[in-house]
Amino acid sequence: MDHCRDCNSTLKSDELECWGCGSKIVDKNAPTSYQERFRLVVKIMFLIFAALTVASVFVESLSLWKCFTGLAVLYLVKSSADYMAETKKG
Ligand SMILES: [Zn+2]
Repeated sequence: MDHCRDCNSTLKSDELECWGCGSKIVDKNAPTSYQERFRLVVKIMFLIFAALTVASVFVESLSLWKCFTGLAVLYLVKSSADYMAETKKG
C-alpha cells in the first residue's frame, strides 16, 4: 500500500494522481529519469569519442588532438554525472 507524499492519503498502486490533494504520484517503476538518460548519452558519446581517438591514430583526416580533447571533456562530464548520481543515492 502506498501513501501520498503530500497528504498521506492511502493510494492504490495504479493511481497516477492522489484522490485527496491531486498531486502527481511518483511511479517507482518510472522509466529512467533525465539524469539517467543524460548519463547514458554521455556514456555513448564517451565510447564514440574513444573509438574516434583510436581511429584518428590511423586516419589522417581525424585530428588526434581534437578527439583526445573531446574524450577528456566527456570523461569529466561522465565522472561528475556519476558522482552526482552516487551522492543522490546516498
Ligand atoms: Zn495527496
